[in-house]
Amino acid sequence: MPSLSRRHFLGTALAAPVIGASASSLASPRPSSFEFVFLTDPHIQPELGAVEGVKQCFAKVNEMKPAFVVTGGDLIMDALAVGEARLHRQWELWDEVMKTLQPTAYHTIGNHDVCGWSPKSVLKNDHADYGKKLFADRYGTGRTYRSFDHGGWHFILLDSIALGEDGGYKGWIDDAQLAWLQGDLEKVGRQTPITLVTHIPFYSVWHQVIQGPQITLGLGALVGNVREFRKLLAAYNLRLVLSGHGHISERIQFDQVTYLQGGAVSGMWWKGPVHGNPEGFVHITCHQDGSFEDRYIGYDWAPRR
Ligand SMILES: [Zn+2]
Repeated sequence: MPSLSRRHFLGTALAAPVIGASASSLASPRPSSFEFVFLTDPHIQPELGAVEGVKQCFAKVNEMKPAFVVTGGDLIMDALAVGEARLHRQWELWDEVMKTLQPTAYHTIGNHDVCGWSPKSVLKNDHADYGKKLFADRYGTGRTYRSFDHGGWHFILLDSIALGEDGGYKGWIDDAQLAWLQGDLEKVGRQTPITLVTHIPFYSVWHQVIQGPQITLGLGALVGNVREFRKLLAAYNLRLVLSGHGHISERIQFDQVTYLQGGAVSGMWWKGPVHGNPEGFVHITCHQDGSFEDRYIGYDWAPRR
């Protein structure tokens, strides 16, 4: 989640901003459809039973036997403003819990997975772990965005985290990645249904739902340059944009695209549910015609007090 919104986040009333028409149903899969799980913002840490919580979440995912898992970023509690020992401890804990997840997982980078990109950073840009190196070495074969195909669908995992002018992060897709995205989409063609994953959302309305229409969102909350490449995406068969970051469950439908924020495995950083939405993940069934069904599934976590 955006670090700056923490105070607001802790002080808001319960509500469930689920926007637009719901495509959710519990219909059994049609032939040649497949199921996957999107789980985001696990924020692993030594405190508040987070390791046990993620393992409990993964056990529920394993029971469902999805074809694969996509994560939405913020795998660890925080790399932005911690020292070396805590940084590595969190990644060790993540590696430990990942041993219990049975399906193949594809990981998206979140802001809290980036080392030192904060005005309050402890590790500076001369440190070996500064920036995205640890994530890239682990999951991106040196790169922090990628795509893959499954069951007639194309999946694109973007890196929505850029370095802001103040030394902190901002939501932005950089030019090198946009050039790669254009090439990737050209290879996929205009018929194949596409799911795109971005830690920081393209659009979101829950801030306005809670705080009123006058609220203005900054680059810490949304991807700032999405307007510049919307036309590129609109030319293809994009159906679903999955995001994390806000830790809320939210749906926006615009044209044929559903923008879904997938709640959070960690709820409110392991302190309880967010806006009444339990700690959980999203189960998605994709069909060959580009349609899909999704449902949010809690894993019955009891927060430690
Ligand atoms: Zn988060």
